[in-house]
Amino acid sequence: MERSTIVRVHDGLHARPATRFVKLAKSFESDIELVKRDKSASAKSSVKLMLLGIKENEEITVRATGADAIEAVEALIGYLENPHAGTDEEDGAQPEKKSGGKAQGKGIGNSEPAEGKLLGVAASEGVAIGPVYGFFPAEIKHENRTLAVNDIADEVLRLKQAIATVQKRMDASLAETSLADSDRGIVVALKDIANDDELIDSATVIVEGGIDAVSAVIGAASRIASDFAAMDDPYLNARGDDVNAVGRQICLALLGQEDVNLDAVAEGSILVADDIGAWDLARAPLKNIAGVICGHGGATSHVAIIARAHGIPAVLGLGRSIMDLKDVKAVALDGDNGEVFANPDALISSHFEVKISEAEAEKRALKIYRDIIPKRADGTVIEVAANIGSLEEIDAAKEAGAMGVGLFRTELLFMRHIHLPSEDLQTETYATLAKAFAPYPVIVRTLDIGGDKPISGVEFPDEENPFLGWRGIRMCLDRPDVFKPQLRALLRAAVHGNIKVMLPMISGIDEVQATRALIDACADELTEEGKAFAHFDLGVMIETPAAVLVAPALAKEVAFFSIGTNDLTQYIMAADRLNPTVAKLNDVTHPAVMAAIELTAKAGVEAGIMVGMCGEAAGRPDLIPTFIRMGLTELSMSPASIQRAKKFIQEMAKTA
Ligand code: PEP
Ligand code: MG
Repeated sequence: MERSTIVRVHDGLHARPATRFVKLAKSFESDIELVKRDKSASAKSSVKLMLLGIKENEEITVRATGADAIEAVEALIGYLENPHAGTDEEDGAQPEKKSGGKAQGKGIGNSEPAEGKLLGVAASEGVAIGPVYGFFPAEIKHENRTLAVNDIADEVLRLKQAIATVQKRMDASLAETSLADSDRGIVVALKDIANDDELIDSATVIVEGGIDAVSAVIGAASRIASDFAAMDDPYLNARGDDVNAVGRQICLALLGQEDVNLDAVAEGSILVADDIGAWDLARAPLKNIAGVICGHGGATSHVAIIARAHGIPAVLGLGRSIMDLKDVKAVALDGDNGEVFANPDALISSHFEVKISEAEAEKRALKIYRDIIPKRADGTVIEVAANIGSLEEIDAAKEAGAMGVGLFRTELLFMRHIHLPSEDLQTETYATLAKAFAPYPVIVRTLDIGGDKPISGVEFPDEENPFLGWRGIRMCLDRPDVFKPQLRALLRAAVHGNIKVMLPMISGIDEVQATRALIDACADELTEEGKAFAHFDLGVMIETPAAVLVAPALAKEVAFFSIGTNDLTQYIMAADRLNPTVAKLNDVTHPAVMAAIELTAKAGVEAGIMVGMCGEAAGRPDLIPTFIRMGLTELSMSPASIQRAKKFIQEMAKTA
């Protein structure tokens, strides 16, 4: 029995839809195959189905043989034609996908060991001392072992038991009520692979051929992962990492070893890692982490931004010296000057303890600035706002005294979902944000994603230089199917509060005009559909040298400027913000960068528009007086910097 149809599953049969399809197929006894042109795969293995790469609108044949073949074909065709599975699903959240572009941040680092002291990039202020929590997921090194014929059956049994152990562990994780939705989606995806015949059968066949189970799992997982890597879809390419991750867990179970796990970081620990994804860090129990030390990363890398947002001292970019810390018990770090001390002696420890208690005392003293409205000497209010990236950060920002949000990074919202977040989901998110801070403004930055950080639903080309490539407004204007739902959502959410919108990576007025034309089209559509909406102020980020040089023309087109010093510095100085070897050049106080900021401020002030700053420099007390003298009236920063910034602005006004 067979029947053909056109697949109507949004984005094709990957991940959750594949799992649902397989679950349905497994409820029938018949052997069932899916046929796509000259290829076919068992309908009872989600890995095999994903490897078939079935896309939306493709023609597919379902073929079944067995007692319930007719019912099976009917049910599966029904699913493919009307899946109800193509909407955003919280439970389907996936880990951030791997870069399709060139690796960033590789370098030898600028650390130079001197009498037990290591030097890195001072990435998040404050000092910390504590036990080391090493995050060094080791590669499993294992020599192939040939089995005696008599041992093969036992080895197959050992493999089955190890797989069962991993499945049980994953079930236990899923049963945890404290698991965040985003984490739950990742565990579900991994569990599907651990349950999948493709990996289990391939490894079993290798063991039955006389090879030990660990080697068999490594071999089977890497073969499947390279099949995924060869597919022409970045989302499916990243599934290869999932297969390797599951393979790794099975191998560890076979070897009786435990993996390093950030969930288990004990309170007061210093996280030491060669490299850690921002996504991993964001999901870690941050309240337990007293400090972060990394071999990779720079002061404006996203790991640094997360650390600063949570007030966690961090020293990054230690280069290869990070390996010297791998086996030490305790470590002290100074995030103000980039110093790290392994196994600090009594003298260093007491020096650090004094600094820690001074910092705590300062924190307590700064609390009185929480609710003040800082003003310039002439009475102009300086808005001190927060940079945030998710709704979960609203409370911390309000608690710190944020006068609104000066930068809402919308990237996380896109990375958290397996499909592009729907217009309704985006409307709800932006409206929640606007309501939380009203009447203060909330500046939402439109999607700033690029080849170094792809998302599901947008295929990024391989680029030699992703930071100079198809990112931010460039990608959005080329993809109105991605951009328009965000603009429509922002128009709809603007009804609920004081929403402003800013565009990243602008290099000329044509980009602003093209965006405005899209906004007008969205407004017309919403009017026709009878949906409520309100207009918002449109501004631009000034973060490219081109934008600085055309700032007077841009100022006539927009309601405000927000200076993005993180990117502006890297582009003016031609120094990759993630590369520790050029961290010294990545200096916002360089006269070239300060001149660019001054030019921008002058153009904005002369045109009578608001000039703000949302790069990390906005929170630096040593620079705040200069920025205010230049004419900036809004500074947006990590919540942890807000109270100190308010204090400095207040004091500056008194002494003027
Ligand atoms: C900037 O570039 O200064 C900025 C605020 O944006 P991001 O750090 O997200 O690139
Ligand atoms: Mg930027």
